[in-house]
Amino acid sequence: MNNKPDVPAAPLPFIDLAAQRKRLGKSVDEAILRVLDHGQYIMGPEVAALENELAKFCGAKHVLSCGNGTMAIELILRAKGVGPGDAVLCPSFTFAATAEVVALVGGTPVFVDVLADTFNLDPNHLDAGIAAARQANLKPVGIIAVDLFGQPADYEAIEAFCRAKNLWLLDDAAQSFGAHYRGRAVGTIGLATATSFFPAKPLGCYGDGGAIFTDDPGLADILRSLRIHGQGSDKYDAERIGQNGRLDSIQAAVLLEKLKIFSDEISRRDAVAKRYNDGLKSVAEVPDLAPNCTSVWAQYTIKVPAAKRSTLANALRSQGIPTAIYYPKPLHRQIAYRGFPAAGNGLPVTDAIAQQVISLPMHPYLDAPTQDRIIDAVVAALR
Ligand SMILES: *Cc1c(COP(=O)(O)O)cnc(C)c1O
Repeated sequence: MNNKPDVPAAPLPFIDLAAQRKRLGKSVDEAILRVLDHGQYIMGPEVAALENELAKFCGAKHVLSCGNGTMAIELILRAKGVGPGDAVLCPSFTFAATAEVVALVGGTPVFVDVLADTFNLDPNHLDAGIAAARQANLKPVGIIAVDLFGQPADYEAIEAFCRAKNLWLLDDAAQSFGAHYRGRAVGTIGLATATSFFPAKPLGCYGDGGAIFTDDPGLADILRSLRIHGQGSDKYDAERIGQNGRLDSIQAAVLLEKLKIFSDEISRRDAVAKRYNDGLKSVAEVPDLAPNCTSVWAQYTIKVPAAKRSTLANALRSQGIPTAIYYPKPLHRQIAYRGFPAAGNGLPVTDAIAQQVISLPMHPYLDAPTQDRIIDAVVAALR
């Protein structure tokens, strides 16, 4: 022991993008400079190059980059013609964007409960979602499954349900690009997949960005047209009402560099998650991966008794350790969404876990001593 006064440890970042930038070195700066030099800021060569690399990465046949993850979902809904009278089943325990775009295109989100262990759609609650849609005089047309915190939803069960009910399936993979479901890569599941390159997502750019993945060539053609103002073979002859949905060349250039280290970053995230699980499983409910599934750990989220959650968050904050609650209020409880149908007699699991979840710092560059500091603080606060 020395007799210096206790210096509080430096506050930790929740996600350390600076550490990633340091690792990337000059490569990102140079990639951005190349765009500045060639000057094709919109639909430059980096955009097609990125789409090719993303397709190779996950094995999807068609990849279209777009302005952000929300827009990726919106474009797919527009391509499917979702509108008034249509119901789309989705979880309530998710970020607003999932349901927002359903309403934005004129459809109705119908909220379905999730599983307490994976936080993802409960396949056994989908029937109640259909019933709630019909009761509201709506036609169920599709399901948006969310791969919350980086782990894919239970797709075999959801796909079987979609086949039986003639629904399309959209994967909101804003948090899960890079993960696998029983050997299948995210990006190849369902009719189409939407992801986000928001800076804090596992694969993030330095601004807004998103992408759509599909194996359906007809859908890809429509999406390509919708993304650029509904244009047909002639740029100034619109075939449909579209939008400005493009990804900037500079963001594509950044993503091309980040994609080179993405697989390694996923392994590092996995190691961090395993270390958290080992250190915390005696004091909290640690995240569960379904058999044969991987996660990219967009968040590392534990469950603690509701009564202890704010004590834990305050204890950690006082030691410079940030936490986050994803999500404190489920969508079906929010002003903008509470008028839409919820399946069954409400969403008890969603309501319960919203009180229990708390996410800890998670990124590929969380070193062991720093992680031990976090683990020790959580254990001390919960013991
Ligand atoms: C981040 C996120 C989105 C939206 O992505 P943006 O790029 O921010 O538009 C959609 N769904 C989920 C589950 C997300 O986490």
